[in-house]
Amino acid sequence: MAGVSRLQYTTEMRLIRVMCSGRVDLEFVLRAFSNGMDGVFIGGCRLNECNYITHGNYHALNMVLLCRKIMEHIGLNPERLRIEFMSSAEGILFAEVMSEFGNKVNKLGPLGKAEGIDQNELKSKLAEITKLVPYIKLVKNEKLASRLENPEEYDKLFTKDEIGKLFSEVISYYIDPEKCQACMICAKRCPVEAIISAKNQVHVIDQEKCIKCGTCFEACPPRFGAVTKISGEPVPPPIPEEKRTIVRKSKEKVS
Ligand code: SF4
Ligand code: SF4
Repeated sequence: MAGVSRLQYTTEMRLIRVMCSGRVDLEFVLRAFSNGMDGVFIGGCRLNECNYITHGNYHALNMVLLCRKIMEHIGLNPERLRIEFMSSAEGILFAEVMSEFGNKVNKLGPLGKAEGIDQNELKSKLAEITKLVPYIKLVKNEKLASRLENPEEYDKLFTKDEIGKLFSEVISYYIDPEKCQACMICAKRCPVEAIISAKNQVHVIDQEKCIKCGTCFEACPPRFGAVTKISGEPVPPPIPEEKRTIVRKSKEKVS
């Protein structure tokens, strides 16, 4: 509507259209900041007026509340991320909000520099958090799907302590080479092919690929119990390739 009505608003923005504000993933926002955007604005339909049964605008709101707390956690000003709800007929409101946000971001200054964070450090912090997005979404799934009716509750949805804990107690999964029986069940179930698997070879989790979903932990037969959960501690290094072959006792006898 703002374009059709030829309304003037900041030219420093780049518009990306999505079918629903709920489509804007936490990863997209982090990627925008990693790519040097100084601010991210999400415009969604008015709450409770979603065109779909999914109420995607609540998902977007919760994601923004979470992301703002994450930004605070890494030292970024959370005001660089904003969400507003309006109808497509509210062109004047859109133009006003965009100009206001543009001015705000200009006043805040360049991302990271204004907050006194070294650019390389910022890049690595954002990359580290982006890698954890599937895990964060899994752990915070319930809250991300909630529908808060009262705006006063918004600020309380995610707390500073909760976010600190989220990053200090990140869960990792590790396959104990002493217990793994190379049954291959975990590798078949892993949704991202993060388990290095071969017949009669101790299985190894590629920590770079692992999204920490815990499927392997659930899938490993209890009689083997080879997958362990590690929280807040470094994961032991993977067993060297030449030591991964499992020699079955029955075969030892034969040879
Ligand atoms: S935790 Fe999930 S992603 Fe990671 S190795 Fe296990 S099944 Fe694969
Ligand atoms: S399910 Fe357990 S025993 Fe089987 S390959 Fe995976 S870690 Fe090893």
